[in-house]
Amino acid sequence: MAPSWLMFLGIVAVIPTSIAAASAETTSSNTIKTDVVIVGGGAGGAHAALRLKDMGKSIILIEQDSILGGNVDSYTPPGTNKSMDFGVFSFIDYAGAIALFDRLNISTAPPARVRAPLQVRRLDHRGADPGLRGAGSAAARAAMEKYLGICEEYEDMIVPGYWNFPTGDAIPEDLLMRFGDFVQRHGIEDAVPQIYAATGFGIGRQADELTLTVMQTFGAQMARSMLGRQGGFITASHRNQDVYDAMVREIGEESILYETKVVRSTRTAGFGVVLTAKNQRTGKETTVQATKLLMAIRPVGEETMRPFNLDARERSVFSKFDYHRVWATLVRHPSLTAGNTSVDNFPAAVAPSNYLETPQVPFLDKFELQDNTAGGLESQVFRSLVIGTKDFDYTDAKELLQSSLDRLIEQGILPRTSAGKEEQIEVVALSDHGPMHVRVSAEELRGGFFQKLYALQGHRSTWWTGAAFASHFQTIIWEFNEVLLPQMLGAK
Ligand SMILES: Cc1cc2nc3c(=O)[nH]c(=O)nc-3n(C[C@H](O)[C@H](O)[C@H](O)COP(=O)(O)OP(=O)(O)OC[C@H]3O[C@@H](n4cnc5c(N)ncnc54)[C@H](O)[C@@H]3O)c2cc1C
Repeated sequence: MAPSWLMFLGIVAVIPTSIAAASAETTSSNTIKTDVVIVGGGAGGAHAALRLKDMGKSIILIEQDSILGGNVDSYTPPGTNKSMDFGVFSFIDYAGAIALFDRLNISTAPPARVRAPLQVRRLDHRGADPGLRGAGSAAARAAMEKYLGICEEYEDMIVPGYWNFPTGDAIPEDLLMRFGDFVQRHGIEDAVPQIYAATGFGIGRQADELTLTVMQTFGAQMARSMLGRQGGFITASHRNQDVYDAMVREIGEESILYETKVVRSTRTAGFGVVLTAKNQRTGKETTVQATKLLMAIRPVGEETMRPFNLDARERSVFSKFDYHRVWATLVRHPSLTAGNTSVDNFPAAVAPSNYLETPQVPFLDKFELQDNTAGGLESQVFRSLVIGTKDFDYTDAKELLQSSLDRLIEQGILPRTSAGKEEQIEVVALSDHGPMHVRVSAEELRGGFFQKLYALQGHRSTWWTGAAFASHFQTIIWEFNEVLLPQMLGAK
């Protein structure tokens, strides 16, 4: 019989489904009972769905988009069968990554930067050529070696999750320093351009962020990878979406509610959850009753979190997160030609070697010519990332793309294509990656932030995965799931 308070709320009780039942049970046209309901089908949520199915659980995955994969963005030009990735670029060979690719029957290839490095002209969007030293120089390599040594000291505090992260004075001083101070302290300036160019854009002005934040985006795995000591790979098809499409085949389409968002929820201590989810296109509502909820979205943004009725404890933790918004784009314009190769955005102050100078948010990272010759794709498609503040929206992102291009043309860095009137930039693809690099202050970390964050696991029948709970890499988040999911299933 349903607990009386659930009756009072006008909903039926959550009856745990049989362990043996690996498929969710539809009890009426719009009510589904399942073991675990997952919200968000990106790296954390899609992988968790696959692994929970392996473990014999029934799942329902609620995803707002029409495909799974989150930050993966694969573009296939109309009329071709050749693709390029402009979101997630490569996968670090970490833990069970290769075995998973084998299981999904996905062929891999070395990342392009290892196979055929692009020649990059480091031109400032404001006019100067800062003349940065190349990543392959002996000085850059030595600095990267030193950085790797420091990262390795702290590696087990950071990956695959923060279970071993200390509190208070036990936190190593290096991790809570401004990254700029850390770099100067260890004399590793020559490693900075490569760290920044590989993963640093999304965190904004890298020098002012905590070293921990930089290591969460470019830690020991990335440093080893840059030094050729840890593998990394891309899909041989140049379509990383294949990975998530293959996961869908194993999860089963019937377990996924696409284009759907949660509109109401009841989350209880010990009695499971009831979510009402609404298809954003058709308006159809589905009620999902589950023993456990696994949240695989970043727990930030008033509107995003409203349907989940955060309580005071959850609010007090999540409200500490700061973040930026990131858009990945592919653009085309007559002034951007194969001859430009790539135009990076560094402030003029970076010349000749002030490597800690990086642009202020909002900014555009670069116009990067896509290496599409091998696939025989149309030429002259350029990739850019737009990094904005929390409230930066789609229109702002498009305007920044245009104004950055206009400035390059005005300054003569890119050629004019017609007298007087310039053509508008063509946005071939633009993908909102949402809140990125959620992070907190040194004071919060000293005060036990990660401990408070992880203590939320299981609170109100709700568990959490993804980039707010682990480092910002696909394969690290997959490994985080390997630790989390048995804990979740073992919990009452
Ligand atoms: C430009 C860029 C390039 C990157 N390149 C790499 C790379 O080369 N290699 C690498 O390992 N990592 C890379 N990353 C990082 C990596 O992609 C992220 O760390 C990872 O995707 C985070 O996984 P997640 O599950 O937390 O979130 P996501 O993968 O973002 O998934 C979240 C999912 O939840 C959905 N969602 C959000 N809100 C709701 C809602 N309210 N209801 C329903 N669904 C919702 C979203 O549509 C999305 O599918 C890159 C990130 C960016 C931004």
